[in-house]
Amino acid sequence: MLSSKMEEALNSQVNAELYSAYVYLAMSAYLESQDLQGMAAWMKAQAQEEVAHAMKIFGFINERGGSVKLAAIAAPPTKWDSPRAVFENAYKHEQHVTSLIHKLVDLAIGESDHATKNMLDWFVDEQVEEEASANATVQRLKMIGDHAPALLMLDRELGQRRAGEEE
Ligand code: MG
Repeated sequence: MLSSKMEEALNSQVNAELYSAYVYLAMSAYLESQDLQGMAAWMKAQAQEEVAHAMKIFGFINERGGSVKLAAIAAPPTKWDSPRAVFENAYKHEQHVTSLIHKLVDLAIGESDHATKNMLDWFVDEQVEEEASANATVQRLKMIGDHAPALLMLDRELGQRRAGEEE
């Protein structure tokens, strides 16, 4: 059985993961408006991955006899200054999500809730990947600068990602 404090914290994380999906969908729409279809597709796949994260925790709360309480999802930003700003923002966002996951782990350890701690370990590993992949694109966009052909090559490469595929 989940403690009520843990139940509340996991419900907040469901919201945070769904908000992440919203952020990436907003980024996808912006990138589409900039004619960067590959990056837009990458962000759409990323949004789907965030929904899968939310569902993992959703399932876990139910399995442990807790109640899922869905709260309103905040509106994401709608505009960025450049594709680089988008990915910098995505990287910052993932660092924030990592800190949320780490706080949940601290809570699980504090409560000796081994099952929750075990479930969260997957997220700890996942966040390492999420940060690395966002940052890799930031670094490449820095190299690219204002060079349009290189930007289009990167766009094409990121467009190869399919939904459900890790990046
Ligand atoms: Mg996530």
